[in-house]
Amino acid sequence: MSLQRYEICVLPGDGIGPEIMQVALDVLRAVGRKHDVEFACTEALVGGCAIDACGCALPEATLDLARSADAVLLGAVGGPRWDTVDPDKPRPEDGLLGIRKELGLYANLRPVRVYDALVDASPLKPDAVRGCDILIVRELTGGLYFGDHETVEVDGVACAHDVMEYDELEVERIARRAFEAAAIRQGKVTSVDKANVLDTGRLWRKVVHRAAAEYPDIEIVDMLVDNCAMQLIMNPGQFDVILTENTFGDILSDEASVLAGSLGLLASASLGDGTSLFEPCHGSAPDIAGKNIANPLAQVLSAAMMLAHGLGLDEAASDVTCAVDAVLADGWRTADIAQDTTDAAHVLGTREMGERIVACIEEER
Ligand code: NAD
Repeated sequence: MSLQRYEICVLPGDGIGPEIMQVALDVLRAVGRKHDVEFACTEALVGGCAIDACGCALPEATLDLARSADAVLLGAVGGPRWDTVDPDKPRPEDGLLGIRKELGLYANLRPVRVYDALVDASPLKPDAVRGCDILIVRELTGGLYFGDHETVEVDGVACAHDVMEYDELEVERIARRAFEAAAIRQGKVTSVDKANVLDTGRLWRKVVHRAAAEYPDIEIVDMLVDNCAMQLIMNPGQFDVILTENTFGDILSDEASVLAGSLGLLASASLGDGTSLFEPCHGSAPDIAGKNIANPLAQVLSAAMMLAHGLGLDEAASDVTCAVDAVLADGWRTADIAQDTTDAAHVLGTREMGERIVACIEEER
C-alpha cells in the first residue's frame, strides 16, 4: 500500500499546550503507522511564545505555514505573563482570533459527550447527564469578538465599547452547518439568541428560520441564551445541536463541559472553506502547566476530529476515539476526572495517559 502523506501545521502555544500536544502527536504517529499514513508535522509559534520571540502573537511565518498545510492542530494560548490591560500591547489571544479570521474559520464544532464511564465525574446527578451527546455549533469569526473595540475618555471618565455585528450571510452559513450536522445526528437544532433585547438576536432568529425552511426534516427550537444556560444544567438531555453566535457559544461550551466532567475532555473543529483548525476548548491552564497533570484527551480528541473532518481519515479517527473510550472504560483517569473512589494507581499523568492510548491503538482493541 502506498504511503499517504499529510502536512500538519502544529501550534503548541503556551502553558499546558506543549505537554498535551506531545501526547496528540504520539497518538497521530501510532495511528499513522497502523493506516500507512505519514503526518509531516511542522511546528510554529502562536500566542505568548510568539510575542516573546517575534513581538506579535501571530507571526507571518506561522500564517504562511497554516495556509499551506492540510490541517492545523493547535494547543492553547495565553497566561498571566502576557496579561495586560494596555490596548496597545500584543495579547496571546490576538494569535487565536487572527488565525481564525485569516483562515476564514467561521464554524466551530464543539461536541460535548458524556462517557458512560465518567457519569460520576460530573457534579450534576448521574441520571441528568447520562447519555448526553450535544454538538455546539458556534459562529467563530463575527459578533462581539470581531467588532470595533475602543476605550475613550469622555469628560475625564473612561468609557469602553465593543461592537456586536452580524450580517445575514454570516448567520446563514453557520445555520446551514448546524442543520447539516443535525441531519446526521438526532435531527434537532436549538438556536440560541437574545432576540428579546438585541437587534443581532432578531436578525439571527429571522435568518435561521429562513434557512430552516430548506431542512424540513429538522426540528428547530428557539431559546434565549439565559434560559439555555439554565436548561443545560436542568435538562441537558433535550439538546442535540445547539446553534449560537460567537460569545454565547464560548460561554455555553465552558458551561457544558461540566456535563462531561472536565474541560480537559472537550475538543473542537474550526471549519471554513479552506484549511481547518483543530484545538481543545480549554485554555492554557497556567495553574497546572509543567506538572504532567493536564488531561491530554481534549487535544487527542481534537486530533481525531482533524483526522475525520480535516483529512477524511474516518477509520483512523475512529481508532483514536475508540482507544479513548477503552482507556476510560478500563478506569484510567487523569487528576481532573478522578474521583474519591478512583484507585490512586489508576490516576495517570499527562504522558502516561498518552502511553495508554498509544498502546490501545497498537493493540487494535
Ligand atoms: P483554562 O481553560 O485555561 O482553565 C480553566 C480551568 O480548567 C483551570 O482550573 C485549569 O487548570 C482547568 N483545565 C483546563 N484545561 C485542562 C486540562 N486539559 N486538564 C485539566 N484541567 C484543565 O481557562 P482560564 O484559566 O480562564 O485561562 C487561562 C489562560 O488561557 C488565559 O490566558 C486565557 O486567556 C487563555 N485561554 C486560551 C484559550 C485558547 O487558547 N483557546 C481559551 C480560553 C482561555
